[in-house]
Amino acid sequence: MYYDVIIIGGGPAGLNAALNFGRGMKRTLIIDEDKPRNRVTQLSHGFLTQDGIKPTVFKRKAKADVAKYKDVTYLEAHVKQIEKIDKTFIVRTQAQTFNARQVLIATGLREYGPYITNFNDFYGQSIFYCPWCDGYEMRNKKLAIIFSGESLLHMVKLLSNFSQDLVVFTNGEKEILEADKTILNNKGINIYTEPIAQLIGNNGYISGIELIDEQIIAVEGAFAKMQWNTQFDFLNQLSITRDEDGKFETNIYGETSVEGLYVAGEAKNNFAGQLLDSAADGGMIAKMMMMKQIEEDF
Ligand SMILES: Cc1cc2nc3c(=O)[nH]c(=O)nc-3n(C[C@H](O)[C@H](O)[C@H](O)COP(=O)(O)OP(=O)(O)OC[C@H]3O[C@@H](n4cnc5c(N)ncnc54)[C@H](O)[C@@H]3O)c2cc1C
Repeated sequence: MYYDVIIIGGGPAGLNAALNFGRGMKRTLIIDEDKPRNRVTQLSHGFLTQDGIKPTVFKRKAKADVAKYKDVTYLEAHVKQIEKIDKTFIVRTQAQTFNARQVLIATGLREYGPYITNFNDFYGQSIFYCPWCDGYEMRNKKLAIIFSGESLLHMVKLLSNFSQDLVVFTNGEKEILEADKTILNNKGINIYTEPIAQLIGNNGYISGIELIDEQIIAVEGAFAKMQWNTQFDFLNQLSITRDEDGKFETNIYGETSVEGLYVAGEAKNNFAGQLLDSAADGGMIAKMMMMKQIEEDF
């Protein structure tokens, strides 16, 4: 089957792109394995008209909007490989092969948490990374900041907007900038540099952090440093230019160095944002992609 566009990823970036492609009457296939980054959370905030919505409900509503357009098909599958032969993209899942004129990567980010045994039992329920998404719900609680390196002080400052009861855990990183140490000391913020043995709590709600020296520090929530990248195996057959941080190089229309291959949402930014940012970007890039097709066909 030949499509005008195949969208890989059905998060807000991919689905809002699909909505626009549907309205532009372009034959569109969304292939989505349905593992969005926010699947670990209960509620999502900061999207006008959708504030406090469950991520699963948001996605169901987004898919229903897209399903109104007959040119758009949604397939739940994992994309294993993309190739480009002449002007055609060949997109393979485990079971099927599809061809397309353009491809949009809207896969979000691959995300990794700090190395702490039971981190995933709490991430998304009482441990977060984004103050703008979850700071309000964690306001005035005793918050652990599991961070190290240059961004540590930045995160402390951001979280001071939400709570005055902060404590820093570097999880084994002993080197802290002297200037940062002085500021934290002056603010009365304790710093624990011992590695974290485990997190204490029940049903996703953290109540303490146990260090390897068996000391337990009581906390009511945490914000942790996460790592993100876009090194997806399915892109290996394409030589896409990236910058020194691994971010895809794109032109202002979101097109990568491979003609016809575009990227939108967090995958484009190589950095975590919010649903609204990804949705807006997906919509904008879809329009740029359609303009290219229309120009060529006119
Ligand atoms: C703990 C947590 C809390 C958050 N809270 C909020 C909040 O309160 N408010 C807010 O606005 N944002 C929040 N976010 C951020 C929000 O989840 C992201 O900004 C948003 O999901 C990014 O949208 P996206 O479309 O770029 O990527 P995603 O939503 O991650 O969607 C990408 C999709 O692509 C699919 N995919 C990836 N690879 C493949 C492949 N090879 N084949 C097929 N499909 C593939 C994935 O399975 C996924 O369905 C939170 C995130 C986390 C982790």
